[in-house]
Amino acid sequence: GNVLALDIGGTKIAAAMVAQDGTLSERQQIATPHGDAAGLAGALEKLITPWRNRVDLIAVASTGIISQGRLTALNPRNLGGLSGFPLQDCLRAVADLPNVVLNDGQAAAWAEYQAVQETCDNALFVTVSTGVGGGIIWNRKLLTGRNGLAGHIGHTAFDPQGGLCGCGRRGCVESVASGTAIGHAMMENARPLGAEQVFERARAGNGDAQRVISRSAAAVASMLADMHISLDLDVVMMGGSVGLAEGYREKVAHALNQLPAIYRVALRSAHHRQDSGLIGAALWARATL
Ligand code: ADP
Repeated sequence: GNVLALDIGGTKIAAAMVAQDGTLSERQQIATPHGDAAGLAGALEKLITPWRNRVDLIAVASTGIISQGRLTALNPRNLGGLSGFPLQDCLRAVADLPNVVLNDGQAAAWAEYQAVQETCDNALFVTVSTGVGGGIIWNRKLLTGRNGLAGHIGHTAFDPQGGLCGCGRRGCVESVASGTAIGHAMMENARPLGAEQVFERARAGNGDAQRVISRSAAAVASMLADMHISLDLDVVMMGGSVGLAEGYREKVAHALNQLPAIYRVALRSAHHRQDSGLIGAALWARATL
């Protein structure tokens, strides 16, 4: 049967139909509402209603901590401060279909792992997007955790003297490396830029923009080195609009190469590009329902 897959990010919500063979069709995308629980519930209802008689399962990947069908933003700045949002109940109210919900980094890790699994037992997915997230495959299994926390690697620390992260801790990788952080590091007319504009300026030769992106890449590389020395990873796969931006992976690889050899880990771009979360959620639904 067909799966309706959704991927709720800090910037966008993507939806598509995923067929049995993993092919994606009718992909659509809307901006993530940044208000409250009612805003998100309304957006989900609007997205799902046209599909509900055409699919057999619903699979949702979402940023934030997913535990017992509820969604809580780890960094409230990314998702309007949602706490205990009843995601699974909300899906059931719109469509009377079996559903699964899991964290977006975990979902993407599961999809990306299928592309490398012949050669890998332990793998990490990292997304550099509105925030920084991830998912861990350990001994060929996806780690979700009893509380849904596993893989939230963007909230490991990079700079103990750094600014406060939205999660409440100081100097998290996310607070230095995310698209949000990159954009906010440069101002124009007293307003922060977006990450795309910082990348454009860096390409045009702006030294400040280049330093902001290099610092982001250095923070991600340091985090990957910590994950590798903890887990003995076979490979790291990187996604997210920043992670996939031209030249970014090379910058992270360059920073990794400055470290002692034992910390260096193979780094690839996500095979499914922007669709890892959608595909992973669908695969997870089929594997677990
Ligand atoms: P989400 O976080 O909703 O999954 P994305 O992966 O698209 O969405 O990440 C959004 C972040 O990526 C924003 O901070 C945005 O400014 C930044 N971004 C989007 N496109 C680009 C690009 N082409 N180059 C660099 N940064 C980008």
